Amino acid sequence: MSKEHLTEEAIQQYVLDKQQSDAVSIEHMQQCPQCQAAATMYQAMFNNIRQLPVETFDFDLSVVVMSQLPAARPGFSWGMFCIYLLVTAFLLSTGILLYHFHEYLQAFMSGITSILTSLGIITIVTLLICQVIDMYRKYRKKIDALDFQ
Ligand SMILES: [Zn+2]
Repeated sequence: MSKEHLTEEAIQQYVLDKQQSDAVSIEHMQQCPQCQAAATMYQAMFNNIRQLPVETFDFDLSVVVMSQLPAARPGFSWGMFCIYLLVTAFLLSTGILLYHFHEYLQAFMSGITSILTSLGIITIVTLLICQVIDMYRKYRKKIDALDFQ
């Protein structure tokens, strides 16, 4: 038996789940009356805690919370419509430009190695996506700030 008594945590661990305690702790617990007394006290305390009634609100919490939430927005939003319109116009104009100038573009692209071209395209597309996402976040933040004032 080890000379030092078990820590409070080790005693609680022994009471709550004996299987998880290490062999030294279990051996000490079986031979030390002082630690056994502490374990008995913890056992009684845990039993009392388990018997306490579960705390519940005496009112309907969901009604209180739901009444403080802002009303749902209408399905159609002019802001989103404008964003979709701008994105569509951008894509259409890009497509038209690519369609009309694809011969020049092909001549331009043939002069550059394909790996550089694909790296450039990936970089540009990634930057564009990041810009659009950032612009949309800023837009939502501003619109949300306007709605609550
Ligand atoms: Zn002990």
